[in-house]
Amino acid sequence: MTEILSLTPPDRPRLLDPGRPGREDLASYLATGGYPAAPAPERLVESVAAAGLRGRGGAGFPTAVKLRTLRDAPGDTVVVANGEEGEPGSVKDRWLLRHRPHTVLDGVRLAARTTGAVRGYVYLSDPQAADAVRRALLERPPTVPVDIVLTEHTYVAGEESAVVRRIDGGPALPTTKPPRPFERGVGGAPTLIANVETLARLALLTAHPDAAVAVASSHLLTLSGGPAPSVLAEAPAGTHLGTLAGHAGRGGSAAVLLGGLFGGLYGDGWAGLRLDHDELVAAGGALGCGAIHFLPPGGCPVGAAADAAGYLAAQSARQCGVCVSGTQALAGTLAALARGEGRHEDTGKLHRWSQGLTGRGACGLLDASAHIAATLLRHFPDRVRAHEDGPCPSCADAPPPDGSRLGVTVP
Ligand code: SF4
Repeated sequence: MTEILSLTPPDRPRLLDPGRPGREDLASYLATGGYPAAPAPERLVESVAAAGLRGRGGAGFPTAVKLRTLRDAPGDTVVVANGEEGEPGSVKDRWLLRHRPHTVLDGVRLAARTTGAVRGYVYLSDPQAADAVRRALLERPPTVPVDIVLTEHTYVAGEESAVVRRIDGGPALPTTKPPRPFERGVGGAPTLIANVETLARLALLTAHPDAAVAVASSHLLTLSGGPAPSVLAEAPAGTHLGTLAGHAGRGGSAAVLLGGLFGGLYGDGWAGLRLDHDELVAAGGALGCGAIHFLPPGGCPVGAAADAAGYLAAQSARQCGVCVSGTQALAGTLAALARGEGRHEDTGKLHRWSQGLTGRGACGLLDASAHIAATLLRHFPDRVRAHEDGPCPSCADAPPPDGSRLGVTVP
């Protein structure tokens, strides 16, 4: 079960309103100021830049830069709303598509108008989300043709080059870059691929220009881990992770795994980290898709790293040799360490792999696995050393590390 929590003040525009959890229809969306007259393209780009909106799919790239690049691209362009969230600990994109389909489609409309796109796509794997978007498209036909493209639910299916490949009729697997989709994407056209929360925030800040900075800097988050119910939350920028944990019933957590599986593990001092892109990057982390996994009191970061690495190894698309061997080696070594069967020299190998494997795959999956190992070694050296002599009580009782404990259900 997943609960809903809003830490955004109720007098501010927000995507997640605990008092309004049902699916929005056209009338309710229009009543909140939805589908306003679209600003001129340059004005909208300037307001997005001034608000500081960043992408919410993982990398946190400035949205205004993407919009401006596509607007200046030659020929016809395409917009894709990317709702395929492969991170096992994230549910916010599926929730948005199921419950706020008009908000997302309004973002598609505004992005298409700003970039001059002639076609749009909503890309996802969740059947309930697809039904909600389909109904919304019937309620209000879009200003440019918008198709729904279904994909399989895998870790890499939402990676931007996999999105292009799937929409063009191929498998949802990443390709080498360049070209990137903004250069040559769907059908060869320059393509804006935007996460659905990014598009929803674009719509919300356009409807509420006086609150644009607050809208652009707030985050949808999936908070999980431990015995408490998982939580889908919305919180303003600057909120301390300790505050989030307290509201989500996870105040005494031992450590956090940030950004889905991309941001790494943090121990002492995690509660003082804030929801701030630059601060988290400076700390060696990332908020990514906003999924935060809290290790309960007594939880073990070695076991958590083994769990995450096991999941990533199983999700490797097995296209790049270095990813197949690298993720298996990381997962196998971390699993042995968690069982207390790792040798001292294995820890040395983890050090080398965590540095040397980064950037070697066609997508970020291998990087995520290497970063988890790197942050485990950096932030928990004593726990790693202790595991060389035998498993801790938490890991001794744990089931095999396969990532199954990382999953969250959509509320
Ligand atoms: S790095 Fe791994 S997951 Fe990514 S494309 Fe290569 S094989 Fe697939």
